[in-house]
Formats: sequence, structure tokens, C-alpha cells
Amino acid sequence: MNKAFIREPDRTVDYCPRCGSKGESVGAETLAAHLTDEQRGKITQTANFCPSPRCEVAYFDAFERVVLAAELPRPVYPKDAAAPICACFGLTREDIERDVREGVVTRTRAAIEKAGSPAARCAQRAANGRSCVPHIQKCYMQCRQAGTD
Ligand SMILES: [Zn+2]
Ligand SMILES: [Zn+2]
Repeated sequence: MNKAFIREPDRTVDYCPRCGSKGESVGAETLAAHLTDEQRGKITQTANFCPSPRCEVAYFDAFERVVLAAELPRPVYPKDAAAPICACFGLTREDIERDVREGVVTRTRAAIEKAGSPAARCAQRAANGRSCVPHIQKCYMQCRQAGTD
């Protein structure tokens, strides 16, 4: 516990106790989908997801209690690059790489369209409880850059 770090009283933003990344706040619905009952009992009902792909912490709370990505019952993106980016519809980085290689956007666009539909369950399925569209778009841009370099 770093006592030198004083949080401003009216701030709700929390930073990962391991890597210092700004956490993405997640609610009970998201935690219920990704953690075991036992793990949920160890942290608060409202916690944070650490968005850094390199950090081993998946979730942490304001008391700096953590659940590691390796302890989760299912791997999550971006902690595991092979896990579906959109857990709603199972789009993976490999699917996007295939699009880029074929010079099409079929799979990527279909996933983005579905992610905006009422069938999307990002609040439960995405590790950070948010829409997976920004992750899909970012991954597509990364793959495209990697492909043309
Ligand atoms: Zn972290
Ligand atoms: Zn989604």
C-alpha cells in the first residue's frame, strides 16, 4: 500500500496497484460473468478492470485487492491476445488478421455491426464491461499497420 499516494476525495478513478494504469470501472454484472463466486467475495461489488495487456492484474478494487488474469475461469482480451476480442460474438484477433490478409473487412465489419445490435452483451461479456467496438477498431488498425510495414 502506497501511503504517499493521496487520492482526491471526490475522484472515483482508481489506478492499478501493480502497473499504475487507469482502471475501467466495472459493475457487479460484469464481475459476475468473469469471476468465480469465491473471487467475487474477495473484492468489492464495484471494481476496476486493468486495461494494460502486459499487466497480470485483471480486476482490482479501491482497497488494492486484486484478481489476476491467470486466475480467471476463462481467458479475457486483451490480457490474452488469443481470447475473443468480442466475447459477444467470438471475433478474435486471428479473424481480423485474416480480413487484413485477404484485403477485406467482412469479419471485422460484421462484428462491429453485431456489437451495436440489441443482441450484444458487452456489459457481461467484455472484460471491461464496455462495448467491444473500440477494441475491434484498434486491433484492425494494428493488424493493418503490421501487414503493410
Ligand atoms: Zn495493471
Ligand atoms: Zn461485445
